[in-house]
Amino acid sequence: MSTVTSTPSGVDEVHILWTSEGMSCDGDTVSVTAASLPSIEDVVMGAIPGLPKVHLHNKVLAYETGDDFMQPYHQAARGELGPFVFVVEGSIPNERINGDGYWTSMGNDPDTGEPITLNTWIDRLAPKAFAVVAVGTCATYGGIHAMAGNPTGCMGLVDYLGKDFRSASGLPIVNVPGCPVQPDNFMETLTWMLYQAAGMAPPIPLDEQGRPTWLFGKTVHEGCDRAAYYEQGDFAKDYNSPKCLVKAGCWGPVVNCNVPKRGWMDGLGGCPNVGGICIGCTMPGFPDMFMPFMDEPPGGSFSSAVLGSTYGPLIRSLRGITNRTVNREPKWRHNRAELTSGFAPRWSGR
Ligand code: SF4
Ligand code: SF4
Ligand code: SF4
Repeated sequence: MSTVTSTPSGVDEVHILWTSEGMSCDGDTVSVTAASLPSIEDVVMGAIPGLPKVHLHNKVLAYETGDDFMQPYHQAARGELGPFVFVVEGSIPNERINGDGYWTSMGNDPDTGEPITLNTWIDRLAPKAFAVVAVGTCATYGGIHAMAGNPTGCMGLVDYLGKDFRSASGLPIVNVPGCPVQPDNFMETLTWMLYQAAGMAPPIPLDEQGRPTWLFGKTVHEGCDRAAYYEQGDFAKDYNSPKCLVKAGCWGPVVNCNVPKRGWMDGLGGCPNVGGICIGCTMPGFPDMFMPFMDEPPGGSFSSAVLGSTYGPLIRSLRGITNRTVNREPKWRHNRAELTSGFAPRWSGR
């Protein structure tokens, strides 16, 4: 559970500084444009009762470019911008191992003309932010860019800032994972943060991985349309079947995600419901602990019906063990001045 030491109640304007300058494909920003509960347009246009006025600064959605776009970021770094929510999209490269260059940057230093790295922006902005929100699995836990053998040593925001980090209002990092994030999951979380900034909502409830509890408290399996087939031990042999996909590689029984219940856009879709195996894209252990994606997961055929009802508690406890395993990040995602991802340069001079 999160705790808040101070809340700026009565705030009537909030800025959202949203950077996707980490190791990112901008897929979470694109995904969020499909939200409807509420839509980003309704939040920005002031159509949601009780919300403060919102100023959104996201390079993909902005009209401003260049210095005009960067201005609020510099103001916030100087402490001259009103309350702001800092949204980070994309994994955080390890600039301690960048050799003679840098991995990612956003804007230039007005005095020197040198690029300002994402890491510098995080150092400047995160402690001043009312709330810090990591959107997508890259920003939350490292994601695809942080898999074994990567050369950048990139990591999730919590690996970079540390588990003890607290924002200016005393909040831990709020994590909304997914690759990409489910659009309404993010907008619900953002809306909560905005109501909290306005003094109209209690502290957001978060689990041990920093995820909103009401969004990530259940497994894919618990919301899947195919669960009855699983319990009958009736498994699909190919993707043209409505039956359970566990033997095709579905990790749903041990993955925290509400997408089968919620769908993707306006309730439509939802990975296993529509024929796609769950590859665990919301999880701290993604992708390494779920590969190769198309193989049957460990214990995949242990449905309670196949083994008999007395084995139910045993199966639940085995699932619990696996769930805990995939809720952990690989150990090479860290902020130390060494690269431990196993990257082996294939050319000389590095
Ligand atoms: Fe792109 Fe997925 Fe990373 Fe989001 S989490 S930036 S969608 S790769
Ligand atoms: Fe569970 Fe996946 Fe089978 Fe759905 S398809 S019942 S999530 S194992
Ligand atoms: Fe990702 Fe699985 Fe959720 Fe689909 S169901 S969004 S693959 S975690």
